[in-house]
Amino acid sequence: MYLIDGKEVSKKIRKEIKKEVENRELKLKLLVILVGDDLASKIYVKSKEKACISVGMESETIVFKANVSEKQVVEAIEKANKDKKITGILVQLPLPDHMNEVRVINTIDPTKDVDGLTYINQGKLFGKSESITPCTPKGIMSLFNAYNVNLSGKNAIVIGRSMLVGKPLAMLLLNENATVTIAHSRTKNLREICKTMDVIISAVGKPKVVTEDMVKEGAIVIDVGVNRVHNTIVGDVDYLSVCKKVERITPVPGGVGPMTIASLLQNLIICHDMRK
Ligand code: NAP
Repeated sequence: MYLIDGKEVSKKIRKEIKKEVENRELKLKLLVILVGDDLASKIYVKSKEKACISVGMESETIVFKANVSEKQVVEAIEKANKDKKITGILVQLPLPDHMNEVRVINTIDPTKDVDGLTYINQGKLFGKSESITPCTPKGIMSLFNAYNVNLSGKNAIVIGRSMLVGKPLAMLLLNENATVTIAHSRTKNLREICKTMDVIISAVGKPKVVTEDMVKEGAIVIDVGVNRVHNTIVGDVDYLSVCKKVERITPVPGGVGPMTIASLLQNLIICHDMRK
């Protein structure tokens, strides 16, 4: 078994980004909108802020109380759309239940949509034209690229069908000529399906969704899940048993997580270049 080391790959990407920011004297600023006080969201936002600063970008976070109206959030986005100093806008998800996530996200100017979640950018991804790609799927594709994994003709399964991870990832795999299966909570015989797969990517958010008996010898396994179990973070994959069987696997932490942040920084540069 060989590790797919997201920490290492992301370090390299961040170094390149820092150089690019310096060489091109780029002035880039990320605006994060955080609603409510969900602890995990706060931690994610902090690490995004830190990453921006570390490569010479600016970062600002607007924090709203959980009971803020959708109109107020939309107004903040509209203001940021017009602000020339702001390169990219990110709304930290999930939003509270009283808000329409899709409506809020689609208020973002598509050229500032650093998370690639507006309908315009999703549509471009479907059409295979140049777009801003959602950060986690983009980071996973960068991992395949860094480890020279040729996806063409491979059978790949994405477990999970969210707009943030599963669906855009499936499209990216398809664009690389993989034969793609998308599984979800209603999928029957997941074990049997997985056993036939060359590549398994789990984005569910439950520990042990992927176990050793579901994986064929020599498969590649990517674990997107982040689950807190007895105060430690684990993925969706039963790592210790699965790792013995596979060719390559991402750890949690240190796999997909750091790549999501690296992709966000790459996307900020893309946003900048789109508006030049
Ligand atoms: P999500 O919106 O909750 O989607 C979870 C998906 O898993 C849904 O499509 C759901 O199916 C499916 N599912 C639930 N139980 C299942 C089961 N037993 N078997 C098969 N599929 C099942 O979550 P998300 O935003 O995509 O995130 C998924 C996980 O990735 C979470 O742990 C999240 O924290 C993590 N994550 C990590 C990063 C990172 O950078 N490392 C970034 C983003 C997300 P239905 O559609 O049928 O409900």
